[in-house]
Amino acid sequence: MDASILAALLPADAGVRIQNVSFVQETVVVAMVADTPLAACPKCGCETASVHSHYHRELQDQPCLGRPLRLAISARKFVCRNADCPQSVFCEQLPDLATKRARTTAELADSHRAIGLALGGEAGARLAAKLSLPTSPDTLLRRVKDGPDEPTPAPRFVGLDDWACRKGQSYGTILIDLERRRVIDILPGRDGAALKQWLAANPQVEIITRDRWPAYIEAATTAAPQAKQVADRFHLLRNVREAVEKLLSRHSAEIKAASATEDSPHAATGDAPSSPHESPGKALSEKEQRREVRQRLREERFQQVKELTAQRYSCRAIARRLGMNVKAVLRYRRLDQCPNWNPGRTSPTQLDPFAKFITEWVAAGNRNSADLYRLLQARGFTGGYDAARRYLNRILGSSGRPGRRDRNAQPRRQAAPSARKLSFRVVNPKPGRRSARILQRLREHDPRLNASLGLAEELMEMIRRKRSTKLGDWAVRAEASGASDLQHLAKSLLQDFAAVEAAMTEDWSNGPVEGHVNRLKTIKRQMYGRAGMKLLKARVRNKS
Ligand SMILES: [Zn+2]
Repeated sequence: MDASILAALLPADAGVRIQNVSFVQETVVVAMVADTPLAACPKCGCETASVHSHYHRELQDQPCLGRPLRLAISARKFVCRNADCPQSVFCEQLPDLATKRARTTAELADSHRAIGLALGGEAGARLAAKLSLPTSPDTLLRRVKDGPDEPTPAPRFVGLDDWACRKGQSYGTILIDLERRRVIDILPGRDGAALKQWLAANPQVEIITRDRWPAYIEAATTAAPQAKQVADRFHLLRNVREAVEKLLSRHSAEIKAASATEDSPHAATGDAPSSPHESPGKALSEKEQRREVRQRLREERFQQVKELTAQRYSCRAIARRLGMNVKAVLRYRRLDQCPNWNPGRTSPTQLDPFAKFITEWVAAGNRNSADLYRLLQARGFTGGYDAARRYLNRILGSSGRPGRRDRNAQPRRQAAPSARKLSFRVVNPKPGRRSARILQRLREHDPRLNASLGLAEELMEMIRRKRSTKLGDWAVRAEASGASDLQHLAKSLLQDFAAVEAAMTEDWSNGPVEGHVNRLKTIKRQMYGRAGMKLLKARVRNKS
């Protein structure tokens, strides 16, 4: 390789001269000599040309044509001539190539940091090795932690939420710049202490969006009195849905009744339910009737073949007399009983030798066909899995156990929907769903419940359409409705009235915060939940 080409690629004032380029095993080694005439003392800043001695320094650089690249530099130690300086001898630095004491060039360190930010330690180290920039997971994480933070202007619109470091044990608080949709900071704890400090240090904040966690309300009110607080609309809707769920859970008996009515609508109209069990001798379908007739004809013919055979008629003669195929006559003569071609008959299968084992296995309460298949294989069964599954289904069907149900069994009644499920139908009505129909029945049946649900719907409409004007009026009517769950909801909304009202007038919402919480969780789990606050913050704040 021509050293002059490489020299052109070096930074202009790197302060080194290339001596030669060689190839050691798989690595490209560039031998260099530091050649600046003067060096500045790190303590006093005096420049000196007095060389004390030489030393060898090696730097890993980014790969060259897919091969690792190493810079072998002959550097110098200088003597400081300033009599007052405590430093007598110092090493010269190469600031354009690498930082003090670094063993990689600044460029390689940047690449490692970018990989660490994107992938974390373990995965990043694997990728780095593939890209011929091998390093350890710890180095990648150190580069991420020690790297510079991207500068960000002071935020004016801030969203905050909590996130779980260890769910149920320790939590943190995430702060988002809503204007730039970037993470500002992650703070330890959700008790509001760290948040208060941050808010006090950032008096330029104008809007704070938050959920209705009391510690956040308190921190925002005391530490940022200038800022307007906005309750999160998503959480408000959730509060409404939870109130509806509580309300509905007081009507579980009615829900069950409505569910039963939904399953058998005849009961509601006064008709007797048509249970198949009550009419065992019910008329056969047309198809079944045709099948019966064919089977009867077959049996008659079978008898005739047997009678004519007894009278010593030949096969051909019988076939001619009865208008049958000779082969069919031969088959009938062989058989003792008329064959039954109707479905549902049991034909011999290759599993018949295992019948006793399978019956016992089923009797022990087992149901899983894959398990059965494995056991059968161990016992020498050579057929396929499907054969085992069909055989098992047949046995389970005839035993009346789960598995194939017989045709006359009563259809299983669906469980009544939970209050929670119905509450979601109030928030998100999906007409046509069974739960929606049950909810409708419930509302028709109970005018008081209907009125309460109507109130809840009204509030949701106000939150969604951002109409705050009627919020006070709504709270008064909820108070008067007599539904305790709505009364509680109204009371809690009134306690945080300004922020709730702001949620219905301001455009700022906590949506971006939720997105960043998800990203934070992904990064946290990508590092197996072992990353500390500093590392998490570095990865969440800096995207590359
Ligand atoms: Zn000095």
